[in-house]
Amino acid sequence: VVIVSALTFRILHGVRDLVLSLVDIGQQFGFIEETLSLIGSPPLLTDGLGSCRLQRGGGSIEFRDVSFGYRAAGEDAIRNLKLCIPSGQKVGIVGPSGAGKSTLISLIQRLYDAQEGEVLVGGRSVRSVTQDSLRDALAVVPQEVSLFHRSVMENIRIARPSATDEEIFAAARAALCDGFVQGLPYGYHTVVGERGAKLSGGQRQRIGLARAFLKMAPIVIFDEATSALDSESEILLQKAVVDLMGGHTVIAVAHRISSILAFDRVLVMQNGTVVEDGRPADLLQQAGHFRRIWRLQSGALGNGAPAFQESRPE
Ligand code: ADP
Ligand code: MG
Repeated sequence: VVIVSALTFRILHGVRDLVLSLVDIGQQFGFIEETLSLIGSPPLLTDGLGSCRLQRGGGSIEFRDVSFGYRAAGEDAIRNLKLCIPSGQKVGIVGPSGAGKSTLISLIQRLYDAQEGEVLVGGRSVRSVTQDSLRDALAVVPQEVSLFHRSVMENIRIARPSATDEEIFAAARAALCDGFVQGLPYGYHTVVGERGAKLSGGQRQRIGLARAFLKMAPIVIFDEATSALDSESEILLQKAVVDLMGGHTVIAVAHRISSILAFDRVLVMQNGTVVEDGRPADLLQQAGHFRRIWRLQSGALGNGAPAFQESRPE
């Protein structure tokens, strides 16, 4: 047994080194995203022994007393978090920079394993299902969307390679991409520059959103994915999310509170934990963080709707 596990260990290290050198080559030639998607990022965690496929359809998420720190010795980024999100709920998350919002999302994707407690997706521990099936269950739109050096069409299609052109156009319209794409020299066939450099931050975000609309996974997660849009487009988009993603669970880390007022539920995070949890209308009635932030963003500072960070508590 010892010899076998030592061998497995060496093989795994060999594979990891190969992966890392591939990533390195990718970086040098500027096609890092393509390399990563080729090998399936991230390469760090492997499927647990006896893990099975997550059944499609379950969109619930649960955190059972989860604590997680990036470094064993340092402070925890998530502290003893208890959270239960039923399938189909639309949840907005707000909180100052460093509160643990992105970490919470990384744990749902199992980019890291929690040191304590358990994260469940569709009623199953994320450790007990294959990474492939977990990825299939989630559509995650980050703040910085990575684009391939390919056409707009192909960049959207990667979210669901079997999609028809018509489905791609529909997703693009829902994500408010259509207008600017029509204005590009070859429309949907325009090749976007190296890592999408020819597009603005807001345009890249819209392509990321179109991917989410196309993938239509049971769970859709936006991590400040509309931060580069003007507040009018942001509100329009969040409305599209609520309208089009009816049965889907949606988690949106929001920059501006105005964009999540139509959601079922809001979590206010601070120091790695949830300090307020309720329906937006109810939280606005209470003299808490949510109402204070809302007032700062809407009233006192004019309708410029400042970013959350500018109204950071403390
Ligand atoms: P938020 O998304 O709310 O701004 P994060 O989840 O990114 O917060 O960060 C929570 C805490 O974890 C912060 O203290 C941050 O510095 C730390 N952190 C985030 N990512 C990493 C990382 N990759 N390595 C080490 N520390 C990190
Ligand atoms: Mg973040």
